[in-house]
Amino acid sequence: EAKRLGRSMTAFYQPSLDESEFGRQWFHMDLTKALEEEQFRLYFQPQVNTKSNEVTGLEALIRWEHPERGTISPADFIPLAEVTGLIVPLGQWTLRKATEQILDLEKLGFMECVVSVNISAVEFQQPTFVDQLENILQEAGVSPGKLRLEITETIAMDYEEFMIEQLNRLNELGVSVALDDFGTGYSSLKHLSLFPIHCLKIDRSFIKDATTNAKNEGITRSIIDLAEHLQLEVVAEGIETEEDLLHVQSMGGQTIQGYYFSKPLPPYQLNEWLSNFYKS
Ligand code: C2E
Ligand code: MG
Ligand code: MG
Ligand code: MG
Repeated sequence: EAKRLGRSMTAFYQPSLDESEFGRQWFHMDLTKALEEEQFRLYFQPQVNTKSNEVTGLEALIRWEHPERGTISPADFIPLAEVTGLIVPLGQWTLRKATEQILDLEKLGFMECVVSVNISAVEFQQPTFVDQLENILQEAGVSPGKLRLEITETIAMDYEEFMIEQLNRLNELGVSVALDDFGTGYSSLKHLSLFPIHCLKIDRSFIKDATTNAKNEGITRSIIDLAEHLQLEVVAEGIETEEDLLHVQSMGGQTIQGYYFSKPLPPYQLNEWLSNFYKS
């Protein structure tokens, strides 16, 4: 019995380890090359204020157009980019692309639209992060108020003092900050009182079955109330159906992001989507 178990364990364990190590190395080389060869694309997903019926924001979401493997999701390469440190130049690329998009939106007359960019802990922990961000904004000629950073509570948890310092510097610069996936990380309400942030994003996992799961409904409702009491904006993520939408609205949620309005879109499709949205 032990022998059979031992053998099956080996069969299960060894080859997959080799394969993943092998795969990782290629993946890393590919990732470095991808940055040099501009294989990344920045997509944008609208955030709609359903009370004023306006697109108040866009979330920038990165995609990797791999020449052989097709489109690779950020969930599959961001973690590796973080481990290898490649996230730092990749993040700079993303921020530059986002500022380009802000300028394009201004040309089209969308003056109120704020573009949100996801920032990894590894990026945010660079002592030069805020200076570099300021440079990017200055070089592009973009007003800092047009940019928002999305950070997760996992970041917020560590390096508390440093975090406050970084966030204060961002605040002085005029770039706003949203806490992404709120409630799913190592969250502490203390962070909400300590950190100068502007927005809470309710994670899709709470929304997903809030219509049928009383606990998730309670959590969603509480986050919306919490945001109101703290005078923070709140964005509900992952609204897919009209049912989701009506439900979140009934709890006081106004700003909505999700497939119900649109999937993340490449810039040319986004422009089309925006003009259709305002036509109808
Ligand atoms: P996130 O910031 O929480 O982004 C929301 C994710 O939910 C996105 O997945 C988006 O496409 C997806 N989503 C939006 N609406 C719906 C919906 O109605 N239904 C469903 N099922 N999904 C929806 P995506 O684009 O695959 O990104 C995954 C995560 O990767 C992001 O989660 C973010 O943490 C990270 N990420 C994406 N782009 C970047 C980036 O440029 N830099 C960094 N550091 N991380 C990024
Ligand atoms: Mg996000
Ligand atoms: Mg999120
Ligand atoms: Mg997420």
